[in-house]
Amino acid sequence: MEYRRLGNTGLKLSVLSFGTWITFVNQLNEAEARELVAHAHGEGVNFFDTAEGYMDGEAEAMLGSALAKLALVRDSYCVSSKVFWGGDLPTQKGLSRKHVVEACHNALKRLQVDYLDIYYCHRPDPETPIFETVRAMHDLICQGKVLYWGTSEWHPWQIRKAISLARRHGLYGPVVEQPEYNLLCRHKVELKLKSLVSRHGLGMTTWSPLASGLLTGKYNQGVPPSSRLSIEGNEWLRQQKLSSEAEVHLNKVRALSEVANQLGCSMAQLSIAWCVNNPAVTSVILGASTLEQLKQNIAATALLPRFEPGVIDQINTITQATFLSNLKTRAEIFRADLGARRRQA
Ligand code: NDP
Repeated sequence: MEYRRLGNTGLKLSVLSFGTWITFVNQLNEAEARELVAHAHGEGVNFFDTAEGYMDGEAEAMLGSALAKLALVRDSYCVSSKVFWGGDLPTQKGLSRKHVVEACHNALKRLQVDYLDIYYCHRPDPETPIFETVRAMHDLICQGKVLYWGTSEWHPWQIRKAISLARRHGLYGPVVEQPEYNLLCRHKVELKLKSLVSRHGLGMTTWSPLASGLLTGKYNQGVPPSSRLSIEGNEWLRQQKLSSEAEVHLNKVRALSEVANQLGCSMAQLSIAWCVNNPAVTSVILGASTLEQLKQNIAATALLPRFEPGVIDQINTITQATFLSNLKTRAEIFRADLGARRRQA
């Protein structure tokens, strides 16, 4: 396993990490989750990711129980959680000082740890001044409850503002962003966050390397039973992933399968190795609903030496076409929307 520095910090994370979204509690029971955590740790994975919003805190509790029962030495792994969706009451969500502090206390209890290695703001909160959140995170760090903090799916200007406020006031600022990054979603990491990484030394721990499974090829012929998009309660995700853009995406997945065949690997492995191949990425957070998937996905890094320029060119030709057609679809949606608004006016 390769380890990379989290941006400009001294923390070294494994290039592959393991997350708990949808799988823990929903698909995996406690014993199964523990088996996957043990396997990942045994393979050198040193970073586990969760959030208060995953199954209303139950995913945090299941990860905490797995780590405790496995009796992993605390300095051999890092654990993160995220604050934003803690409940329905006005005081249970967002990034107010009150919710940030209480969500952290809940995460520590559920995860059965004394501190979180990384604490993320799961989304930006337009109703809380950024300075209030920066100050709350700084205080948690000073209290020893959090070591590093970061953001997830924040706009670059919001991250820049948090960094500059922290610098101006001598506070700990965000050191990492957690964006989506995969072969079907490249623009944020490769374009929008580029200068934050190069100028401010921001680390990136990226999510959904397989676009929720689309990039394994399993949805090429429809939705297989017991896959993520078939699960009751995930209708919103199925709608999002298999929307009007789906056919464009699936065509690209089919074309990418040819590249995987040439390399003699699975689509999942090609997709994961491609994310790791970007040196700006600190860690690619994997998701897996079975031990077999996890084993296959961890083995993906063995592909890296075979990513020669010709292979990268082939992948770029296929996925940049996706990027351009996404832009086209978005432009068409925008034009249709504008037309509808004009007609209403
Ligand atoms: P992926 O895009 O890799 O999707 C994982 C899912 O794909 C698995 O649960 C499984 O679903 C399927 N899969 C995985 N490997 C294989 C394989 N080899 N063959 C066939 N199917 C496979 O990652 P996630 O979307 O789960 O994201 C990873 C982590 O990132 C999360 O656990 C979470 O920690 C984090 N995250 C953060 C977000 C944020 O907003 N900050 C948002 C989303 C995730 P199945 O078997 O059910 O089909």
